[in-house]
Amino acid sequence: MASVTFDKATCLFPGSSTPAVDALDLEIEDGEFLVLVGPSGCGKSTSLRMLAGLEPVHAGRILIGDRDVTGQDPKERDIAMVFQNYALYPHMSVAENMGFALKLAKIPKKDIRERVVEVAKMLDLEQFLDRKPKALSGGQRQRVAMGRAIVRQPQVFLMDEPLSNLDAKLRVQTRTQIAQLQRRLNTTTVYVTHDQVEAMTMGDRVAVLEKGILQQCASPRVLYNKPANVFVAGFMGSPAMNLFTLPVFDRGVTFGDMHVPVPRDVVGQVTETEVVLGIRPEHLEISNEGLEMDVDVVEELGSDAYVYGRAKVGGRSQEIVARSDWRNPPQKGERVHLRFDPNQVHVFKTSDGRRIG
Ligand code: ATP
Repeated sequence: MASVTFDKATCLFPGSSTPAVDALDLEIEDGEFLVLVGPSGCGKSTSLRMLAGLEPVHAGRILIGDRDVTGQDPKERDIAMVFQNYALYPHMSVAENMGFALKLAKIPKKDIRERVVEVAKMLDLEQFLDRKPKALSGGQRQRVAMGRAIVRQPQVFLMDEPLSNLDAKLRVQTRTQIAQLQRRLNTTTVYVTHDQVEAMTMGDRVAVLEKGILQQCASPRVLYNKPANVFVAGFMGSPAMNLFTLPVFDRGVTFGDMHVPVPRDVVGQVTETEVVLGIRPEHLEISNEGLEMDVDVVEELGSDAYVYGRAKVGGRSQEIVARSDWRNPPQKGERVHLRFDPNQVHVFKTSDGRRIG
């Protein structure tokens, strides 16, 4: 087992003016499950592939434990990667696929068989060991790809969107299984996904990337409750946090009939003339008084309902989403009122998007 350190690791593809990954600083603890998340093109796969040795590191370093692996071949790094398309060998059986890396490493046949069977039991694949990949379901193939990584007993598992080829239900089941298995094996894991629910449910910590730059790395709870900037606030959570740019006066902002004080910035007085106020849909309560909202769409999900509409905030009509009690949601076309707990709001600077409270 080992820790992983990205030390100002940078990757700049030829012909591109901005780095795909820009001076990434990240320390992943021994045994930790770290998720890299962000929108398409933010640099998560490139970060993982730099760690795997599949993309060059143009500046900075990458360490596994205290080994500097920056210039090493993928083979020398003691990692195992699970790809989105599983990359199984079609002409080999499940057992041969799982044991292939051990065979290359000249491990005795009997030991390979033992390890393969042990891991197959773990993954509920024992009865499929003699089958070829094409005779397996998508979920079973996914488990073979996992099994092939596990039998190698690497120092680090790298997973690049390993669930994206599964249907929604299987994806939910499999994400729980992978998270449980990782905790049982206690092997340091770096996991890439664009799905923020996957990130929140699986990771010990989640690193959010945008345009090649690390925005925040924290536990799912901290990311959700204390997003470091407007980008993280808007990216984590579904439906997304309501964000309103509002003028500051009398050391606060006005939202409907409520005056919300703006906290002082950690480095001094807030000098901004405007701030961004963030309120999660679950913190907006539909009530008899407060800000007026005209309901456009009601999304009933069974356990909750989300109410989308428009309200006049900061002098202009803005889109808002609020969570409502599913038993009694308002109707489309209705006018409702919104209230919120002023302790549950987020405030960000307009200049750089940084959180101030
Ligand atoms: P996705 O979720 O779409 O896979 P990602 O966050 O994994 O996205 P990367 O694949 O790491 O993003 O790509 C980061 C940036 O680098 C993108 O702008 C992409 O176009 C660019 N890029 C990736 N691979 C190459 C390459 N081989 N040559 C040039 N540019 C590349």
